[in-house]
Amino acid sequence: MSGNAIDAEPGTVYLVGSGPGDPDLLTVKAKRLLEECDVVLHDKLPGPEIIDRLPEDRREDVGKRAGGERTPQSEINERLVELAREGKSVVRLKGGDSFVFGRGGEEAEYLAAHEVPFEVVPAVTSAIAAPAVAGIPVTHRDHASSVSFVTGHEDPTKAESAVDWDALAATGGTIVVLMGVGRLPDYTTALLEAGMAPETPVALVERGTWPGQQVATGTLETIVDARDEAGIEPPAVTVIGDVAGTRESVVEFLQNDYGAAGDAGAGE
Ligand code: SAH
Repeated sequence: MSGNAIDAEPGTVYLVGSGPGDPDLLTVKAKRLLEECDVVLHDKLPGPEIIDRLPEDRREDVGKRAGGERTPQSEINERLVELAREGKSVVRLKGGDSFVFGRGGEEAEYLAAHEVPFEVVPAVTSAIAAPAVAGIPVTHRDHASSVSFVTGHEDPTKAESAVDWDALAATGGTIVVLMGVGRLPDYTTALLEAGMAPETPVALVERGTWPGQQVATGTLETIVDARDEAGIEPPAVTVIGDVAGTRESVVEFLQNDYGAAGDAGAGE
């Protein structure tokens, strides 16, 4: 399909969030579009249960190239435009919500700049859902009236760090860190140095809603050890604040039992 592809009416690109990974948490609209579209471009984050159900002949994994490196965003952008210009309806499937640390905004801008029609399909973000299925509400009338979603990817000691950990420590609200398993020691130290109480509860939720979900709990002081003991690996969210401590009072009756591997954590 190359010859007169340029003349064809462009197809629509759907920027679809998959939710945190449990197929039952796909929106009705996401499920319908996955069934109806011509092609799905995805990476690994939607999780094995959703990816394994995508039809082999209509999906492209654009997450990693051979050799283990990430496909550059520019290549994904170009591929979206190319497929749309062939007249195809394209689902760009991202884990969680595409507009929460998902580069959905960049893709939307690129599509608009290339006059490709697109639709945004919002979804359940792991930033809220992963804590939730571990029994942790990100807000709570008694514990937190605000919540911040931040990236843990950056070095907090860098002068030009985009995340202001001092300011976050001062808000008293819940802090949910995405992409923050590796740098956990750095930003917990930054928060302690900014004056947060060492006994502030912290929870890590790995692969929330996936088979093998794991939870590790502790405090700002103990969570690094809890992470290592439990062997927590990405993808995981870190929940920092008093809300993380409420899990203890509900977990016995919590029926969101995704994790076969069981839970781990200081004092459990
Ligand atoms: N757009 C996604 C976030 C992408 S950034 C969303 O809205 O959820 C990638 C980070 O998301 C991971 O490093 C991890 O912190 C988090 N993440 C995504 N899916 C997750 C899951 N099922 N359980 C725990 N964390 C998850």
